[in-house]
Amino acid sequence: MIGRQNFNNVKKIIKNSTIRLTLSYLAIIMLMSFGSSLIFYRISYDAIGRQLMQVETIGTQTRGLGLSDLITINEFLQERIAEVRHELSMRLIFINLLILLVGSVISYLLARKTLQPIAKNIEAQEQFISDASHELRTPLTAIQTTNEVALRKNNITSPEAKDILKNNIEEVAKLKQLVDSLLHLAKADGNAYNFTKLDLSDVVSEALNKVATTAIAKNIAINDAVPKISITGNKESLSQAIAIILDNAIKYSPDNSHVNISAKKTSKLVTIKIKDQGIGIKKIHLPHIFERFYRADSSRSKSLIDGFGIGLALAKKIVEQHDGKVIVTSTPGKGSTFSLTIPSN
Ligand code: ADP
Repeated sequence: MIGRQNFNNVKKIIKNSTIRLTLSYLAIIMLMSFGSSLIFYRISYDAIGRQLMQVETIGTQTRGLGLSDLITINEFLQERIAEVRHELSMRLIFINLLILLVGSVISYLLARKTLQPIAKNIEAQEQFISDASHELRTPLTAIQTTNEVALRKNNITSPEAKDILKNNIEEVAKLKQLVDSLLHLAKADGNAYNFTKLDLSDVVSEALNKVATTAIAKNIAINDAVPKISITGNKESLSQAIAIILDNAIKYSPDNSHVNISAKKTSKLVTIKIKDQGIGIKKIHLPHIFERFYRADSSRSKSLIDGFGIGLALAKKIVEQHDGKVIVTSTPGKGSTFSLTIPSN
């Protein structure tokens, strides 16, 4: 409900800005049009006046013409010139009206084109805030409900109380994880990284340390075949991006399976490949999995596997900050391979 209201507000702001920008563009067009019309009118007016004087001079110098002839010629010329000037001003008014009409359409289209990226950005931010609030609400509601139910009980036993506290701690841990991811995402958006020369195998080791506990819990063997390769980047964020993809490889794989991580260097690029034997990703989900809060296969992964759909968005952002890109290939039921490509030294 709040999200819809915000979207309507954004639409209203964009509509008002489009009108204001259209009027500004139109004012510039009309100012130029009126200005040039005035100059054109002035020049033509003077030129016609000069021609009249020339005709008068010729008339007075022509022998054999009487005074009455000259007056008639003069009157005729004056009339003709007035007509021409009237016609000229009517044409200029018509042209300006036409420019006003065409200019309005062009100004409106230009204003829309100018504001389109801004509108998209604002809408994406509104969507992000609305999704983030929704994700934050779920664990908060769970904590509130368990505590309220416990409070209503008259005599609560110690094991029951411990159970509730355990539940609360789990939900708080989820909240902390979400807030941490959001903060990292905001930091990645702000481009606040320090880059240094790094050894890729050290970065991967750090990422492996981060996921070791989850891999051991599922008895998943991670085969590290990353050689020493020199790269330039931010160690903390790069290891985080690799850890996110490794963590997913573990999360979406069956117990006792294998995950491989390898790297290859070409003249200008380094490609890190993370391959799992997990559930895979259906083709329809592939274009969306890097979007914020997107989770494929809601029936399975949403209810059974923890996550907020932020990890891959963050990993992609980090890799892009390193002038790199992430691509994925996947076969449902067989596994997925994520490839991170960044420039090498
Ligand atoms: P989540 O917190 O849901 O894991 P991510 O942004 O990390 O969020 O991933 C988005 C979605 O992409 C996941 O919900 C999952 O459906 C899919 N996904 C990511 N990695 C894998 C993988 N290795 N195997 C299968 N599905 C994956």
